[in-house]
Amino acid sequence: MSDARSKVALVTGASAGIGRETAIEMARDGYSIIVADILVDEGKDTVRRIESAGGKAVFVRTDVSVESDVRASVQAAVSEFGGLDAAVNNAGLEQSGCPVTEVTQELCDRILGINVRGVLMGMKHQIPAMRARGGGAIVNLSSIAGQLGFPGASVYVASKHAVIGLTRTAALECAPLGIRVNAVCPGAIQTDMIDRFAGHDSAAKSALIAHHPLGRIGTVSEVASAIRWLCSTGSAFVTGQCVTVDGGYTAQ
Ligand code: NAP
Repeated sequence: MSDARSKVALVTGASAGIGRETAIEMARDGYSIIVADILVDEGKDTVRRIESAGGKAVFVRTDVSVESDVRASVQAAVSEFGGLDAAVNNAGLEQSGCPVTEVTQELCDRILGINVRGVLMGMKHQIPAMRARGGGAIVNLSSIAGQLGFPGASVYVASKHAVIGLTRTAALECAPLGIRVNAVCPGAIQTDMIDRFAGHDSAAKSALIAHHPLGRIGTVSEVASAIRWLCSTGSAFVTGQCVTVDGGYTAQ
């Protein structure tokens, strides 16, 4: 993964969890990073961590459900670092414990606005910037919830299925442009999100762990590793695919 010298990557949701780890590891690979997130202090902390390790990063306060914010994050990649080579559409919002019969229009709009429209608008603005560069790679965060149903998480499940459809469609549209578009589907990964999903309940978390054949949940670094590979020339012949990082969950 050493082909990233002087390349530029934009990572949404990079103030925490998988996005933060991905931003830090891609900076270590040599990318200059746009840290795009709704959380300002935590995003600036990601930048500090990258800079203290000798990397380059700029924080752009971005709500991915707002198109003008998304456009500005891409413009920042061009104005700060000269272009865009890789984008990781990672920002997302979970849902749990809410059966279909209790879903409100507000909840539905909020989750779809971030998880689906955020990814779509991200690609809308990232693709032209990458086209100007002669190619690039986009990685969208789906989930095993993009492949399976989960009771109580209907909107989240719908959103992550949608991310896979968006990824395949954009991959076909972008193949002639030299831009590859793939998705990563994590199983349960140790982040704030998974603790919220499990309701901060150790019994619920143990039950989640028990569903993963490898007998544990994953680490943010294990997901970042797949994302970095999909952005690298090592995956030059891979597009429109979902790389599942789930400890065997979906093999059952
Ligand atoms: P996380 O720990 O909650 O971090 C997500 C980051 O995105 C947070 O900083 C969050 O801010 C930010 N964010 C939320 N809404 C945003 C918005 N509208 N615009 C910009 N940033 C926003 O989540 P994670 O566990 O790292 O998950 C990252 C991605 O992986 C998500 O798409 C998730 O669905 C997917 N995924 C996670 C798991 C897992 O087990 N962790 C499994 C499968 C898939 P706030 O804290 O303010 O919300």
